[in-house]
Amino acid sequence: MIYKEFQGLRLSALGLGCMRLPTLDGNEDQIDQEKVEEMVAFAREQGVNYFDTAWGYHAGNSELAIGRALAKYPRDSFYLATKFPGFAPENMAKAPEIFERQLEKCQVDHFDFYLFHNVSERNVDGYLDEKYGIFDYLMEQKRAGRIRHLGFSTHGSRATIRRFLDAYGKDLEFVQIQLNYLDWTLQNAKAKVEIIREYGLPVWVMEPVRGGRLAQLPQADMEKLNALRPGVSAPEWAFRFLQSVEGVGMILSGMSNMDQLWENAATFQTEAPLNGREQAVLAEIAQEMIRGNKVPCTGCSYCTTRCPQGLPIPQIIKSRNEDAAAPQGPGPQDCLACHSCEVVCPQGISIAQLMALYAGRR
Ligand code: SF4
Ligand code: SF4
Repeated sequence: MIYKEFQGLRLSALGLGCMRLPTLDGNEDQIDQEKVEEMVAFAREQGVNYFDTAWGYHAGNSELAIGRALAKYPRDSFYLATKFPGFAPENMAKAPEIFERQLEKCQVDHFDFYLFHNVSERNVDGYLDEKYGIFDYLMEQKRAGRIRHLGFSTHGSRATIRRFLDAYGKDLEFVQIQLNYLDWTLQNAKAKVEIIREYGLPVWVMEPVRGGRLAQLPQADMEKLNALRPGVSAPEWAFRFLQSVEGVGMILSGMSNMDQLWENAATFQTEAPLNGREQAVLAEIAQEMIRGNKVPCTGCSYCTTRCPQGLPIPQIIKSRNEDAAAPQGPGPQDCLACHSCEVVCPQGISIAQLMALYAGRR
């Protein structure tokens, strides 16, 4: 395993993201604890020492599952990160209550890394509002040793990232963004990396294979890539791209099974950044995807927890993107256009409008 130096710590360059843990019967809320424990044990054997969860993952059960899995290991043998869920407006006034509960759920007395979750145009006013006092509260926890390093994750615009960094940047230590070779241009990730580096902070990466989209490429694309580096898998290309981006400190991958973990851990045994020609070919592949104009859903499932109709929104979008059979259960025709799901969608997808389109109402 490659390790990255961060303020005297030795962090594994690959971290285990806990938003797509193995589940029982395909039910998002029901985590397969036994499999999680096997994955954590194997990840540790491979040298992974960073685990990233959040209040909202798996409808609140990710923190519980990873807390249980890590509780059997010495506390100083892993780094645990979680996040304050200000992406949901009703949580803004509850920082103390939520933070205490997170410590309990994770069975720890401190978090090594703690983030403002998904700072975006929709919530930045609340995050900055002194009435809620979130920043002051988290700084207090930091002084008390209950948070070791404070940062934020964001899917926001460059202007929002700058606004947040101007307000709190001198006390923040890292910024987690969605970064991969597709979002390099599609979501202006290149410009976001430049801003973060301007403020002297390291970049933590989420969605390195974009919710699985970059884990499987069309045969024609694989042939182009094989001609450059034979035998390299699609996910490995995505990780090698990230190894070529200056300023990247941590790469989090939301792995769901042992095969993914095994393959990704093997990739991170070496640092093998891409050359200019290889980067150019990946950029061409990304452009083709953008021209394909698919809905940029990453399958994070934040939206499904808010839907009063129980629509399997990511599965519906995936089936349309891939021209495949629709999932079981309620469909686009059942959407009430209440927009609750859109408040939490990190990709800013107009879900109600999309459902109306799918239902043939537009
Ligand atoms: S807008 Fe439609 S899909 Fe979204 S939460 Fe409301 S009913 Fe569900
Ligand atoms: S629609 Fe948005 S919130 Fe829902 S799964 Fe896709 S990216 Fe996540």
